[in-house]
Amino acid sequence: MSTNGPYILVLNCGSSSIKFAIIAPSTGETPLKGLVENLFTASGRLTYEAQGEKIKSTLPAKADHTQALQLIVEILNQFKQLKGQLVAVGHRVVHGGEFFAESALINEAVIQAIHKTSNMAPLHNPANLAGIRSAQLAFPLLPQVAVFDTAFFQTLPKEAFLYALPYSLYEAHGVRKYGFHGTSHYFVSHKAAQMLNKEYEECNLISAHLGNGCSIAAIKHGRAVDTSMGFTPLEGLVMGTRSGDMDPSLPSYMIEQLGYSAADVNSILNKESGLKGISGLSNDCRELEAQAKLGNEQAQLALDMFCYRLVKYIGAYMAVVGTLDALIFTGGIGENSAYVRSKVVSQLYHLGLVIDEALNDEMRFGRSGGIHQPASLPVLAIATKEEWVIAQDSARFAK
Ligand code: AMP
Repeated sequence: MSTNGPYILVLNCGSSSIKFAIIAPSTGETPLKGLVENLFTASGRLTYEAQGEKIKSTLPAKADHTQALQLIVEILNQFKQLKGQLVAVGHRVVHGGEFFAESALINEAVIQAIHKTSNMAPLHNPANLAGIRSAQLAFPLLPQVAVFDTAFFQTLPKEAFLYALPYSLYEAHGVRKYGFHGTSHYFVSHKAAQMLNKEYEECNLISAHLGNGCSIAAIKHGRAVDTSMGFTPLEGLVMGTRSGDMDPSLPSYMIEQLGYSAADVNSILNKESGLKGISGLSNDCRELEAQAKLGNEQAQLALDMFCYRLVKYIGAYMAVVGTLDALIFTGGIGENSAYVRSKVVSQLYHLGLVIDEALNDEMRFGRSGGIHQPASLPVLAIATKEEWVIAQDSARFAK
């Protein structure tokens, strides 16, 4: 077992899952990482990987975050040398509202602010808080740090983050665009600046995070100025199961004319739409690519719509950021799907983006690099490392 500490324990608590990892903030070295799934069910399971070995176990029925955290601590107890080098716990927190433009050392006031934001992220923030409370009990001596998905987008100007609704909705209820996937956009945009050999503050970038959730960010002179996700992570691009943009009157039409309940509509837009809804097959891009190749028209349509929406956003953001230094692809699809990247970039030829198909085909499985022809504006595929960003930011608060 490597002992290149200090290390940070990074926790990403979802509504029914916990991702955990021990990460060296200076290098990104990850000697241990794991995943708890299916909390609150009879089939909870825990898998982790350490020293190249994968280990699986089950959880007690209906285990909650606290019980799962106890198991994680038991695992860490088997790796005393690593555990002894932990200097902080970094928590991914989905929604920081307007309270947090950067990461924060967790104290009671920070917990209250996260709690206040929970009504805007009802699935995520309460889970994040459960993780924080459990980790405080398990590691009372370590600083606990909250790293927010929304913080990167607190630089958006009002003209970009406001909806054209009565201003009082913003003032009284915080109705505005917040943006999500901030740690990923932060990581890949900084990495792009390095790859371009340019000061970050001078870079005009567009980063597309394409995974099961998808978002795109416009970054001008090193500041986020727009993004596709909004008040919630539902707005914007076509995603795995989320609709992204649509006519805002559709929910009331579905409720009043088609007889759906508000809960039905919410579930359809979040869980039954996007690639899955259009294809009727799957939210998995790999499967859709395979089916489209076999001639499945709905799979092809889903991919066409996915790419078309993305092309529209890239065009809009090229207008916003000024002279573009690079277009970045990241996330499971952005990092691995040569098909999607090629299909998108080939529709941007007239804007100066030309893909190199050979480079594009090679770029997958965690590799990062340029996928454009020499005369093109740079197009980069970059493997995102959100957990590493959380570790780096948390290390700033370690004693
Ligand atoms: P993420 O949420 O970032 O883990 O990304 C999940 C998405 O990445 C799913 O739609 C996967 O199908 C997609 N993905 C992963 N590997 C590939 C690949 N080799 N080709 C196309 N899509 C991929």
